[in-house]
Amino acid sequence: MAQIQTARGTIDTADLGRVLVHEHVFLMDMEYTFNYRPDFFSEKTITDAADRLNELKAAGIDTIIDLTVLGLGRHMPTLAKAAALTDLNIIVSTGAYTFDATPAPFQFYGPGLLKDVPEEPMVAHFVKDISEGIADTGIRAGMLKCAIDEPGLKAGVERVMRAVAKANRITGAPITVHTAPLQETGLIVQRLMDEEGVDLEDLVVGHCGDTKDVDYLMKLADRGSILGMDRFGVEFAITMQERVDTIADMVKRGYVDQLTLSHDCCCWSDFFPEVSDYHAAMPNHNYLHIHNDVIPALLEAGVGQADIDKMFVDNPRRYFEGTAKRFAARH
Ligand SMILES: [Zn+2]
Repeated sequence: MAQIQTARGTIDTADLGRVLVHEHVFLMDMEYTFNYRPDFFSEKTITDAADRLNELKAAGIDTIIDLTVLGLGRHMPTLAKAAALTDLNIIVSTGAYTFDATPAPFQFYGPGLLKDVPEEPMVAHFVKDISEGIADTGIRAGMLKCAIDEPGLKAGVERVMRAVAKANRITGAPITVHTAPLQETGLIVQRLMDEEGVDLEDLVVGHCGDTKDVDYLMKLADRGSILGMDRFGVEFAITMQERVDTIADMVKRGYVDQLTLSHDCCCWSDFFPEVSDYHAAMPNHNYLHIHNDVIPALLEAGVGQADIDKMFVDNPRRYFEGTAKRFAARH
């Protein structure tokens, strides 16, 4: 067993239950929202979110990992209000989300920069979020997150990724990375994390479900990382059935212990003019899609209930416990 931080305090890994590994509650360009979306600050946004989270709990999910970090509109006081209205465990994250530039507050601040300091300052920010809490809410991050998309290992992306890796080494918090499987950026993540001394089993390679290329997926899995089959309901380039068939194929090839499931969706976002526009544009991108549609399709594709339970329950638990055990062994 190991201890996990959530928006409502510490829980034991035995209480994680069924986990969706890559979700969001609120997702926004915070500056835009602050200027143009007064509806975000209404009580209704919080109660609507709580309704969605409670529906998810009622559908049998016990825990979500909210991967909303700097760059995606992390606003912990609002999240705390929604978390107080649900029994669902919400594991929150620290890190930064960029495909290119360094986050603005660090562009001139760091080793060799105009505000020259010996150590990468992002590391201390991330470590504080994990060990003390975020923005005086007392809520501690339980996961680290960064991103590498189609542009590849841009200077800002590399800086954030190395800072995330160092924070993992200091705190033992596990890591999820947003990757672009068509550009095989998960392999770049593994190389860089390995250079930084991160155990690749501490890593969830996110958005692996966006490809049908099982050779690429096996390459990542063979180095010990967990694969995020985590964008159910996003149907631009790949259908639900293709996502399901790829999972069934990976299970047949013996990789069930490294697969996890999720949607990467949210309750409220400013990515569309109205929340109703989001639901209209992406009707399956909601917390209940896996429960309602994906599990029946997995069973239909020949994936057994025991294997589905591994992806929801055993794999996330083993991942958190393994990361904690490896950290304890180093210290
Ligand atoms: Zn996400």
